[in-house]
Amino acid sequence: MKTIPYSRQSIDDDDIAAVVAVLRSDYLTTGPKVPEFEAALCAVTGAKHAVAVSSGTAALHLAMLSLGIGPGDEVIVPAMTFVATANAVRYCGGTPVIVDVLHDTLLIDPECVRRAMTDRTKAIIGVDYAGQPADYEALKKLGVPVVADACHSLGAKGVGTLADLTCLSFHPVKSITTGEGGAVLTNDPYAADRCMELRNHGRIGAESMTLGYNYRMSDIHAALGLSQIRKLKSFVASRRQISDRYGEFCGRSAVTCKDSERHARHLYVVRIRDRDGVQSRLRDRGICAGVHYVPVNLQAAYRNRVALCPAAEMAGREVLSLPCFPAMSDSDVDRVISALRESI
Ligand SMILES: *Cc1c(COP(=O)(O)O)cnc(C)c1O
Repeated sequence: MKTIPYSRQSIDDDDIAAVVAVLRSDYLTTGPKVPEFEAALCAVTGAKHAVAVSSGTAALHLAMLSLGIGPGDEVIVPAMTFVATANAVRYCGGTPVIVDVLHDTLLIDPECVRRAMTDRTKAIIGVDYAGQPADYEALKKLGVPVVADACHSLGAKGVGTLADLTCLSFHPVKSITTGEGGAVLTNDPYAADRCMELRNHGRIGAESMTLGYNYRMSDIHAALGLSQIRKLKSFVASRRQISDRYGEFCGRSAVTCKDSERHARHLYVVRIRDRDGVQSRLRDRGICAGVHYVPVNLQAAYRNRVALCPAAEMAGREVLSLPCFPAMSDSDVDRVISALRESI
């Protein structure tokens, strides 16, 4: 029996043809496809500017640099996220201040953010955990720039315009893929210009004005993104359908979804006491469920600081992401549900 992964990409003949056309063209990188993809990102999100880059991590790094984060600056990040969110702060020499999440949604807790603020706080990064946007209304009231780590949430209503800067990832498990890739979205033309410069060695014309990077996206990747973005709506609709079916079985053991429209359903996360046991019994039945995440404060690279974020740490022991991706068939979903029934 074929193993079902927790997620995977959906690639069709149009995607393949789009990439092949670039391979036959004059430009493999920095050609016409990158700006076309950026325009498509603006069109689907309503953001005024999009800067396509080489990964979601690069997008987060550029967002931090465009806000001028440096040594001595603090940036508040939630514990329940992929480690790249906090790493982006450290790349600039800043200090990530890790705060707890709300127990029901696992989104950053604005009250914890308020308590963690000091005169060194220069920004807050909200993470749209599982595809559900953080409470940006509340975060924006705290008086510093707000960045959305929207690597999970492209396709949810409002994403792209909820924060000052929005970072996307196009890794194969995300809403749409370019293989590797990412983007910064913003309505601020200065921030967009700064990100454009920094992704290309800090160059304006032939001269390097500041220390920049090679975070460019290639035309090969952008062509795949352009083809994928046409299917964003149907991809999100499939994920919603699968999530609704899981919901009938999992009920209140699932992480709370407040509003189906405002959720891209990147992950379907349940909470289980004996998480490790259930995960291994599912694996025996050919179902690969994932753990998102071991909280950032418990990572070795963050010095294993236990008891800093109790809600995130409890979730870290209990969360399990069931397979949820557009290419799943109804019978795949049936298989996951019956394997889960046997494993609990
Ligand atoms: C995937 C992801 C990233 C990093 O994106 P890459 O494209 O893999 O660099 C950052 N934050 C979150 C929450 C993610 O899920």
